Amino acid sequence: MTAPPLPRTVRCPACGGPSLYAPENRFRPFCGERCKLHDLGAWASESFRVEVQEDDGADAAPPSSAQ
Ligand SMILES: [Zn+2]
Repeated sequence: MTAPPLPRTVRCPACGGPSLYAPENRFRPFCGERCKLHDLGAWASESFRVEVQEDDGADAAPPSSAQ
């Protein structure tokens, strides 16, 4: 019993819609050219930002040895 060769679909990173993840979709993992271009544009403008490293307070754990 083998699975039928269904086209694999992934979630489009740009619009969140179903995107065909196959060689015939040259915009994968995006669903289309529009989403790919949109994402690239956003990514490009995003790269102009200063990278912010969020300190999650890893070494700021309050000591619970009060008692
Ligand atoms: Zn899309």
